[in-house]
Amino acid sequence: MDLLNTTTKIQEINDPEITQRGIRLLVKRDDLIHPQISGNKWRKLKYNLLEAQRLGHKTLLTFGGAYSNHIYATAAVGKLFGLRTIGIIRGEEHLPLNSTLAFAKEAGMQLHYMDRSTYRQKQQPEVIQTLQKEFGPFYLVPEGGSNALAVKGCSEILEEIDREFDYICCPCGTGGTLAGVIAGLKGEKKALGFAVLKGAHFLTDEVKHLLLAYQATPYSNWDIHLDYHFGGYAKSKPELEAFIQKFTRQHHIPLEFVYSGKMFFGIYDLIQKGYFARGTTLLAVHTGGLRTEQE
Ligand SMILES: *Cc1c(COP(=O)(O)O)cnc(C)c1O
Repeated sequence: MDLLNTTTKIQEINDPEITQRGIRLLVKRDDLIHPQISGNKWRKLKYNLLEAQRLGHKTLLTFGGAYSNHIYATAAVGKLFGLRTIGIIRGEEHLPLNSTLAFAKEAGMQLHYMDRSTYRQKQQPEVIQTLQKEFGPFYLVPEGGSNALAVKGCSEILEEIDREFDYICCPCGTGGTLAGVIAGLKGEKKALGFAVLKGAHFLTDEVKHLLLAYQATPYSNWDIHLDYHFGGYAKSKPELEAFIQKFTRQHHIPLEFVYSGKMFFGIYDLIQKGYFARGTTLLAVHTGGLRTEQE
């Protein structure tokens, strides 16, 4: 199978708000990896796909909410690589389908709704056995796509960076991407995550857990900022909208409010608060998130 090319360009942001403070900001444009598959979703799926293939599986099954980028990306990847995909969606069906699920269905994903209490038990063997009885054998990709193989895929971001930097930043949903970035740094420099969920204190443990699952080195050169969620997952505020509009207009880099907008807002806010010393270079990973047919 032809894997997607991930060596995206690195672009410098020339903005007096940043340069006046002696800071340089570089952006790795992983949003350009694919029009429908978020850059980091591809990285997280890549080694899972290869593993599924190695094991002879023809079906991928995964879990997600009705607005999940991971469901969307898995459906697109399934179509691209000729694999059957099954999406187990939290909660009840709502018709008409929203754009995420409509896309997934159009791409050939079989959608199956699971009530919230069973969904919470989705890792339990009994629940998985029931799914196997219903759908036959499948390769299971966890919710959000974050597992040890996802960490491996995201660690490759670091291999593609040929510029000097002090901090590397990424948005955090489940923390899989951040765990990969930390693994790729191998203890050098510093990684900063920006949580997009409200009250995401669990993320620190989750990232440690994922690092252990991948390679067991408990690096400590990283931090997660929890205060840039703007009310919670996929929530926004006029202040964030205004920032996104201004940034997109000035730098011609599209941002959305779920992930990249919150991270860049956080980066600008920390710069303005003097969090980084003069002479610091930041590298932000633009993980993607904008899709061509989004409403
Ligand atoms: C899913 C997603 C994230 C979050 O990645 P995690 O590995 O779950 O932390 C960040 N950015 C975009 C664009 C995403 O789709």
